Amino acid sequence: MNGPMETDVCVVGGGPAGLALALGLVRHGVRTTVLERSITGHRELRGESLSPDSVRLLDRFGLLRTLRHDALTVRRLEVTDGGHRVLSVDFAGFPYPYRFPVELPQLRLLDELAAAAAGHDGFRLLRGWSAAGLWHDHAGRTAGVRVVGPEGKRTIRARLTAVAEGRFGRLREEAGLRATVRPLDRDVLWFRLPRPAEWTEPAYRVRIRRDRHALVLPDANGSTVRVGFSLPKRGLRALRAAGIGALHERLREIVPELAVCVGKLPRDWSETALLDIFTAEVPIWHAPGVVLLGDAAHTLSPVLGQGVNHALGDAAALAPLVAGALEETDAVAAVDRATAEFQRRRARAVADSHRLQWRQERVFTWASRPAAAARRTAYRALQASPRLRARVLEPAYFAAQRGERADPADQGHEAYAPYEEERA
Ligand SMILES: Cc1cc2nc3c(=O)[nH]c(=O)nc-3n(C[C@H](O)[C@H](O)[C@H](O)COP(=O)(O)OP(=O)(O)OC[C@H]3O[C@@H](n4cnc5c(N)ncnc54)[C@H](O)[C@@H]3O)c2cc1C
Repeated sequence: MNGPMETDVCVVGGGPAGLALALGLVRHGVRTTVLERSITGHRELRGESLSPDSVRLLDRFGLLRTLRHDALTVRRLEVTDGGHRVLSVDFAGFPYPYRFPVELPQLRLLDELAAAAAGHDGFRLLRGWSAAGLWHDHAGRTAGVRVVGPEGKRTIRARLTAVAEGRFGRLREEAGLRATVRPLDRDVLWFRLPRPAEWTEPAYRVRIRRDRHALVLPDANGSTVRVGFSLPKRGLRALRAAGIGALHERLREIVPELAVCVGKLPRDWSETALLDIFTAEVPIWHAPGVVLLGDAAHTLSPVLGQGVNHALGDAAALAPLVAGALEETDAVAAVDRATAEFQRRRARAVADSHRLQWRQERVFTWASRPAAAARRTAYRALQASPRLRARVLEPAYFAAQRGERADPADQGHEAYAPYEEERA
């Protein structure tokens, strides 16, 4: 076995949380090593919808100017229930500097974060390396990780270990940080289809029928859409038994506009991906020498695309706190204070998203006629009242911009253009 490697901060996981943290740290002169077990970083159908608050963060990271060329601005959120349009929200109507969500392939975001970090001394990204466990010093404090890489087993010694290993990570448990994992009543089957030509405006389209629903998201390429088709928990087995034709039929029932895609619908199940939906709440995100961030600290449901937003928000909050702590004389104690302060600053925003998502998840399951009618009434009330709309949607999309106001002469940081102009 080779000797230990040394770094200031060892980040486990090169997803949005881990790479954004690394970028923030190396910009403060902190030596940072990121471990990413995947060699290619390939991720299909993941984390492509970024909220306006994420767009703001990307601008703060100095990456928006480059990334906007690969991003698609989303103009509207639209909900249809039982065939009636019950909500249509134009993001241009919100009075914030960053008003529009965008669609951006996650791999593109990760490449850009890594490239920006690589421009600084002290950054090391080890792809194809896996953290096998935490490494403790003689006092029992986490002081790095045991890793397995192309050259075999190594130890990485670090003053702080930042666990950003996503929703299936194991280091969280090893650090003694327990999560409450709650499965949701549904799973989601994802697949891609060509964009119907009449959908000229990039929009999030939610289609509900009784207790079934589907989410249709525009793709950044402009020519396809991602369909997230909700199934009862573990319902894929029954659907598969009924054959792929059963999926086509249900899709036509819930999103009739996609009937034009006949011939392009998934021909077999390998063209679909199942997302097992659960949430994880972790009461404490830090222990001596170790901190959790991103999905490892709080796994959210896919409702309103909040995962990447909180991953980036965590990184932006944690990096300066850790950098400051590492400069103190008693850095060991200061780092532990910094990680506790990090959770204090971030916990409320995450809890707000959990609450909002659970409310919406419940509404999706209302199946009886009176319940479905009540749901339509609630959406229509939202449509009728800008105040109510602001109260419900602003915590999801604009929480970080409270108190900031757009310049009325400003078109917004991402002036909108329909597909054709956007792609020109
Ligand atoms: C199908 C799907 C669709 C989604 N859509 C959206 C969306 O539209 N908008 C949105 O905001 N969010 C979405 N999410 C959620 C979003 O992808 C996550 O919230 C976000 O990626 C979390 O970032 P993260 O960095 O915390 O974790 P991850 O992105 O999961 O990254 C963790 C990384 O750690 C690596 N890793 C894990 N264990 C180890 C180890 N032991 N050693 C080394 N490396 C390790 C993994 O390979 C991975 O690259 C979606 C999720 C899924 C599954």
